[in-house]
Amino acid sequence: MTTKPRRTTTDAGIPVPSDEHSLTVGPDGPILLQDHYLIEQMANFNRERIAERQPHAKGSGAFGRFEVTRDVSRFTKAAVFQPGNKTDTLARFSTVAGERGSPDTWRDPRGFAVKFYTSEGNYDMVGNNTPVFFIRDPLKFQHFIRSQKRRADNALRDHDMQWDFWTLSPESAHQVTWLMGDRGIPKSWRHMNGYSSHTYMWVNGDGERFWVKYHFKSDQGIDFLTQDEADRLAGADADYHRRDLFNAIAEGNAPSWTMHVQVMPFDEAGDYRYNPFDLTKVWPHGDYPLREVGKLVLDRNPTDFHTEIEQAAFEPNNLVPGIGPSPDKMLLARLFAYADAHRARLGVNYKQIPVNRPQCPVHSYTKDGAMRVDNVADPVYAPNSKGGPEADPEAAPYVEKWAADGEFVRAAYTLRKDDDDWGQARTLVREVMDDAARDRLVDNATGHLSAGVSEPVLERAFEYWRNIDQEIGERIAAGVRGKSD
Ligand code: NDP
Repeated sequence: MTTKPRRTTTDAGIPVPSDEHSLTVGPDGPILLQDHYLIEQMANFNRERIAERQPHAKGSGAFGRFEVTRDVSRFTKAAVFQPGNKTDTLARFSTVAGERGSPDTWRDPRGFAVKFYTSEGNYDMVGNNTPVFFIRDPLKFQHFIRSQKRRADNALRDHDMQWDFWTLSPESAHQVTWLMGDRGIPKSWRHMNGYSSHTYMWVNGDGERFWVKYHFKSDQGIDFLTQDEADRLAGADADYHRRDLFNAIAEGNAPSWTMHVQVMPFDEAGDYRYNPFDLTKVWPHGDYPLREVGKLVLDRNPTDFHTEIEQAAFEPNNLVPGIGPSPDKMLLARLFAYADAHRARLGVNYKQIPVNRPQCPVHSYTKDGAMRVDNVADPVYAPNSKGGPEADPEAAPYVEKWAADGEFVRAAYTLRKDDDDWGQARTLVREVMDDAARDRLVDNATGHLSAGVSEPVLERAFEYWRNIDQEIGERIAAGVRGKSD
């Protein structure tokens, strides 16, 4: 039996007379302005592209669910992490510096963002595939990203400005070491971990507070691309990682990650040997072991990339009861920056785009604005005596709090006993990497520094690596200077 195809219509649902021919005066004559369908098609085409994200423009994602497998209710009352709970999720993975069409296999950290559609509202964990970051003060973030993007004059990416910024920002050493190592180019998004990187607060049902860091460990195992493999793939298939995720899910090979947390009792933060809120540091596993929480499975591809992935809006300020921010300055700035970026890119009503809608009832007092589609009901103000929604301070997040006082200052974090910019990078090089991984690190850093880095930045870069590890620094310097090591 043949079924009749669905009838083409205009956006107003009116049947269209032809998919192929514009309305003209005779077959060879001019086009008529009254061909509204042609105009609709051309006008829509001109407006198809929306602004790309700045940064994290190139990425993709998939839907799935998070299932709690262990009882962590003594640490948090958040519904999403209560025993046995299953929550629908969306995850998006991305590079950081590249534009929307850039190769997936450039050396770069990867975004690892998860939206949990919880019964208490949307909870977004907006992390990376690395446990640390290049900087610890948000005033430097814009400058850091500009140094990773393109020059003003020739619009080229430029290793000289990247190393100029990094070597003048020694707090970047841990993340740069990580980036120049094997994990700087994952084999696929399925073969990398996700980390909250930031410290968050968890609060249990008795009001007890804990500091936590999230680790999503790949159940596929960690794997990476060498620089040569990545360079080849960047030309052969710029969408290599996007294709891999989509095909794996389409073939029924759903990737998964086991979520763990490191938990620090609230009062231990005060005299921990590292500042536990410094985004350039990890908490060594020996100090705070991983505790399993549950499993994230991605098993459904988007059907419309634009509406479901390009317009997906992740924001670290989406925190649910039982989860709060920490005094990490980068996190506190991101609580503002992400929602602001979405308002600028998607419009003030971006939370009404279906992928961003909570799955629980919404009773907010925002109203109107461009592209508003939800009806607003009276009363439109609070307080009111007309039956409008009323705030419930007991149920809300942001009761998660800590105390602070002092003069207004512009200053770095107070240093703790083991706080320095090189120590954890040194541990990574000396104790985590093996000889073969160290050799690849030297090759990767040497290649990166040999591509257009000028004096005196180059000499500063050698000193930067010597501070991390004397021998590694000498090998990189020798490699760049063209001497055998
Ligand atoms: P551990 O020996 O307990 O942990 C080392 C961790 O390093 C591993 O568990 C693994 O993280 C990660 N790792 C392995 N190979 C690489 C690589 N090539 N590049 C980056 N990371 C790698 O030691 P510590 O916890 O004391 O940490 C030692 C160093 O390990 C830190 O200074 C930090 O650089 C790095 N690290 C530590 C993490 C932490 O949260 N403690 C997390 C990731 C890295 P995973 O198990 O997450 O895959």
